[in-house]
Formats: sequence, C-alpha cells, structure tokens
Amino acid sequence: MNVILLGPPGAGKGTQARLLSERRGMVQLSTGDMLRAAVAAQTEIGKAADAVMKAGGLVSDEIVVGVVGERLDMPDVAGGVVFDGFPRTTAQAEALDALLAKKGLKLGAVVNMAVDDEAMIGRISGRYTCASCGEGYHDTEKVPAKPGVCDKCGGTTFTRRKDDNAETVRARLKEYHAATAPLISYYSAAGKLSNVDGMASIPEVTAAIDAALNGKE
Ligand code: ADP
Ligand code: ADP
Ligand code: ZN
Repeated sequence: MNVILLGPPGAGKGTQARLLSERRGMVQLSTGDMLRAAVAAQTEIGKAADAVMKAGGLVSDEIVVGVVGERLDMPDVAGGVVFDGFPRTTAQAEALDALLAKKGLKLGAVVNMAVDDEAMIGRISGRYTCASCGEGYHDTEKVPAKPGVCDKCGGTTFTRRKDDNAETVRARLKEYHAATAPLISYYSAAGKLSNVDGMASIPEVTAAIDAALNGKE
C-alpha cells in the first residue's frame, strides 16, 4: 500500500515513516533525506537545493518531482511506499497523481498529522539522528536506552541538521501553512484523508496510523 504522511516540520513524519517501513516492509521515500544526500554529494541537484534548504524554503517542484519520479522507477517500490515530506505543494500532489497513474500504482491513504506549531519548535530543536543507521532521537522525548548509544545499531556518533534551529523552523512552518496545508483539502476532496492527533505519544500515533490504514489497500 502507498501512503502519504502529511504534516509540518516536527510532526513526526520521519519517525512514523521509519516505523511503518519496519512493520510493513514499505519503502520510506523521504525527499528531505534524498535532497540532503544530493547536497552532501555535491551533485547538480544538491548545488541547486543547498541554499534554499538552509533558509527553510522549498526546493523547486521540478527538481523534487524529478527525484521522486526516478525513485519510483526502482523495483522495490512494488511492496508499498510511505511518502515522507512529499508532496509539499499542490503542483507536487498533481504530479504525484500523474506519476502513480503512469506507473500503475495506487494511493491508499493520506494521513494528516495534526499538531500545534509552537510545540514543533521544541521538537525540531531537540532532534538528532544516529549517524550510522539514521534512527531519530530527541533530547527529552526519545532518548536512547543507554545514553550516547544508538538503540538500533549501537552507534555512538549522532548528528544534528543545520536547518534545525528556531529561526529556520519558523520559516519552514510559514512555508508549510502557505504551500502545503492546502493539500489537506486536496486529499479530503479525493476521499483519501485520515486525521490523527500528532500531539499524542509516539506509540499512540503509531496505533492511530495503523487504525487509519486498516482495511485500506
Ligand atoms: P518530521 O519528519 O515530521 O519533521 P520527526 O519524525 O523527525 O518529524 O520528529 C521530530 C522530532 O520530534 C524528533 O526528535 C522525534 O524524535 C520527536 N517526535 C516524533 N514524534 C513525536 C511525538 N509523537 N511526541 C514527541 N516527540 C516526537
Ligand atoms: P522537515 O523536518 O521540515 O519535515 P524534511 O527533511 O522533509 O524536513 O525537508 C528538509 C528541507 O528539504 C525542506 O525545508 C525543504 O527545503 C526541502 N524539501 C524536502 N522535501 C521537499 C519537497 N517535497 N518540496 C520542496 N522542498 C522539499
Ligand atoms: Zn544507529
């Protein structure tokens, strides 16, 4: 099944996408991760995206749709995809509809993770990631069982994103409300939308997403 996780920065999309891929074997398609990899590798796309991402703006629809289109050509997507951070504009949503139709894939559900903006500043400011396996953590909300050691892989090196500071988060939240929030009505009109309370605890959100996906394909 193919699922979109929709929500502002800090809503928990990456956390829940990773859990969905672990539970259901779905491929996590994170455009943020793909763009960060392109920036690190200094590809043409990375060079074009770097400054926009640092400022908390949106990378062009053309670039992002191109990257997603290429990813959807890989055979592993047949087992289901969880879209994390894509689409973010109406143009991207329309392009995704066209891509899925062309590749004979179906959109099963769109899960809207409803959260309070102010709480997202704290979530983003406390976010860090295992450098070896990518597992996500938070200074107070999700700490490793053994301090400084990744629960998943035993790694001891962690990274924080350059754009995870209060100033950039405000820009990203503004961008979310202007460009991405209209997708809630877009997918509601298409009969695809489920709402979950993204302010609940991580396991509660996981259970709510499971309930929303139950019986859908
Ligand atoms: P997004 O991908 O939507 O930007 P993340 O999944 O990276 O969000 O979550 C942002 C931060 O908040 C991370 O540090 C994560 O550990 C933490 N987090 C995720 N879900 C919750 C939750 N339900 N309650 C509290 N903290 C959470
Ligand atoms: P967040 O934690 O804010 O959800 P992401 O990792 O999804 O962060 O995205 C980080 C940055 O990458 C965004 O602020 C934006 O600059 C860029 N980006 C990611 N996905 C998209 C997209 N679908 N369209 C445009 N820009 C994107
Ligand atoms: Zn790890």
